Amino acid sequence: ETIGENLARSVARYAGREALVEVATERRWTYAEFDAAVDEVALGLLARGIAKGDRVGIWAPNCAEWVLTQYATAKIGAILVNVNPAYRSHELDYVVRQSGMRLLVSAVRFKTSDYRAMLAEIGFEPVVFIGEPGWDELVRQGRAADPAALRERAATLAFDDPINIQYTSGTTGFPKGATLSHHNILNNGYFVGEGVGYTEIDRVCLPVPLYHCFGMVMGNLGATSHGACIVLPAPGFDPEATLRAVEAERCTSLYGVPTMFIAELGHPRFAGFDLSSLRTGIMAGSPCPVEVMKRVASEMHMSEVAICYGMTETSPVSTMTRRDDGLARRTETVGRVMPHLEVKIVHPDTGLETRRGEPGELCTRGYSVMLGYWDEPGKTAEAIDAARWMHTGDLATMDADGYVNIVGRIKDMVIRGGENVYPREIEEYLYTHPDIADVQVIGVPDAKYGEELMAWIVMRPGAEPLTAESVRAFCAGRLAHFKIPRYVHLVESFPMTVTGKIRKVEMRAEAVGLLG
Ligand code: ATP
Ligand code: MG
Repeated sequence: ETIGENLARSVARYAGREALVEVATERRWTYAEFDAAVDEVALGLLARGIAKGDRVGIWAPNCAEWVLTQYATAKIGAILVNVNPAYRSHELDYVVRQSGMRLLVSAVRFKTSDYRAMLAEIGFEPVVFIGEPGWDELVRQGRAADPAALRERAATLAFDDPINIQYTSGTTGFPKGATLSHHNILNNGYFVGEGVGYTEIDRVCLPVPLYHCFGMVMGNLGATSHGACIVLPAPGFDPEATLRAVEAERCTSLYGVPTMFIAELGHPRFAGFDLSSLRTGIMAGSPCPVEVMKRVASEMHMSEVAICYGMTETSPVSTMTRRDDGLARRTETVGRVMPHLEVKIVHPDTGLETRRGEPGELCTRGYSVMLGYWDEPGKTAEAIDAARWMHTGDLATMDADGYVNIVGRIKDMVIRGGENVYPREIEEYLYTHPDIADVQVIGVPDAKYGEELMAWIVMRPGAEPLTAESVRAFCAGRLAHFKIPRYVHLVESFPMTVTGKIRKVEMRAEAVGLLG
């Protein structure tokens, strides 16, 4: 099935129900209205001569037009290229050229960056600006066009055509363009929606960026494949706007990376918002601390909240927790493998499966594995082996019942005096300290031990600042001596990607400077 065919089924069943709400502007679309608006954009793109397989970029913060463009490009078989809203001219130039972009849909201004100036700088002209005459003109062209053109195009599409290039978050290096098909992302969105039990009464609040698979696949496709409604609280992440949107729109589900939930729980007026409509939601993207999961489940009424694990290259979700998994497994593991997929844990050197419970590299196989990295056959061959297993670069364990635990990225593992140390374990323990709001542990070079541990800590407001000594005292007797951080660095926040992932690469570089 293609995304257009799947949307048509939801439109037939749920025509009068809401499909999309943009809270900031109070604009709303029922499924019938949404489908008609998508068709106008699709016909507008056809009128501009966009052929099947042409790359159409979108570089904008979260907005309704983002969603319309996503479905419109899918309906005409164009390849949507998601451009990170935080990109600056150098990175923009890279993706525009690397993907061979024909047209870009953009916004004029977002926060402090002027998109038009950056586009002028790289000399890319075929741009349609949302909120400017450019977008309205595209829609007008679509309205005036003969709808038969869309039916003719639809007849040429196949479910395994490429329709999306998503650049990875760039947490560990330069972003790579994962090329995905209707089959890849539609199925994944559908099964994620099924995993959290979506029906047409659900309203899904998305403070996560649409440019990333968390928003566009788990959010948009997860919602529309089950007749649920997409609620966009604000253009960028804003804890207050998110809480207000949940209350005003009576959302039943809320998504976020762990740092977003931490910010919402820590909002000074948190207790004043009525969040009683929430039932479920998804936390994903980076390690989900047990303490945060527990608070989300109780204080935000999200008793059915799920954890998902995945990566851009696998559409994204490979494992998730389920409502009936029991509290311990729902907070301490990333759940079990998704329907119709395979997961195995292998020794990174030998490629052989490890014994149950022993850490190794997690590999995924099945419908979700990307077609490849766009125009990078060498990198694709490094990531996907001959038997079609995607090697994730993540260390994980799997217990006898199939529950998976993410130990960390292979690149983040610290080797101190010959002992493998997984920062995650230390972070989990430090989260139990009453004065610590957020914490990250990294390895820094050390002459004697090869690497030493450094904890970066965000204190709770009003708490007495911790020192290396007080942190070590808190760990003494509770963690093995080689896991106790030698250095403590107090910060206000961590260097982050726009998807909310913590850039440990940058932290390590900065730490080297700090230690002189
Ligand atoms: P890049 O590949 O460019 O360095 P990235 O890997 O951060 O960036 P994404 O595809 O957005 O880009 O993120 C996937 C990664 O996020 C996974 O490989 C994993 O390390 C991490 N991750 C995702 N979900 C979870 C989770 N629930 N628990 C722990 N880690 C997670
Ligand atoms: Mg990655």
